[in-house]
Amino acid sequence: MNSQYVFVSGASRGIGQSILKLFSSKGFPVIGTATSEEGVNVIDGFLSELSGEGFGIQLDLSDKQSIENLFDTLKEKDINPEIVVNNAGITRDNIFLRMKDTEWDEVIQVHLSSVFSLLKFFSKKMVKNKSGRIINISSTSAAIGNKGQANYAAAKSGLEAFSRSLARELAPRNITVNCVAPGFIETDMIKGMDEDTLKFMSDQIPLGRLGSPEDVADLIYFLSSEEANYITGQTIHINGGLYM
Ligand code: NAP
Repeated sequence: MNSQYVFVSGASRGIGQSILKLFSSKGFPVIGTATSEEGVNVIDGFLSELSGEGFGIQLDLSDKQSIENLFDTLKEKDINPEIVVNNAGITRDNIFLRMKDTEWDEVIQVHLSSVFSLLKFFSKKMVKNKSGRIINISSTSAAIGNKGQANYAAAKSGLEAFSRSLARELAPRNITVNCVAPGFIETDMIKGMDEDTLKFMSDQIPLGRLGSPEDVADLIYFLSSEEANYITGQTIHINGGLYM
């Protein structure tokens, strides 16, 4: 059993669920978040199946009070994760001229502003301990700017730039900060896309398939490992060659 706690936001489904399962299977205690009580139970179920330590906790990144509640719980339990994976995400796609202020605000809050708050909290103990790994999940959309995703692309680009600044500030404390930018990964997030667009995009992937959540989890696990201790301030793309 490893004593380093791992924090994974959005661990009830998709990529986050694979990250939670991988770290748990490697003996790390994991805290995974979901927006609902039902999702928390799902996370607890995975952890108990794997005989893993840790627990699920409710967190809505669009709600500042919910973020404060998370901090209170972790303080109460005296848990200071050394590996933090900011994975939770949403899409509120719309063409720019129709995009509502709420669609813009929610995506910026969930993908960018909430990460500012979470990392302010988590990095304090990392700085004190002179050790830590921060991995933020971006998207190919930040690099290529998908149509209908002005909000999402802006949030993810902001997240990447924010991560580079943080990487410089935290490097002297032996803390690495990196982004992972997935292409098309088979999760609920892309299930909402219309089939023609998805087929068109898939046909352009040189490796000829959509990515799996496990593909992404493996990269995140590597970035958290000792073997990655000289990598910081990077955005690592994982997309089957779609963007290169
Ligand atoms: P997903 O299957 O839709 O799962 C999203 C996760 O985020 C769920 O655990 C969900 O919790 C949580 N979540 C949603 N809204 C939240 C909120 N307001 N506060 C806190 N948590 C919230 O998504 P995914 O495809 O695994 O995506 C994971 C990350 O990868 C995201 O950052 C996404 O932008 C990025 N990404 C995905 C793809 C892709 O093709 N799938 C490509 C590039 C980047 P509930 O279960 O409680 O709703």
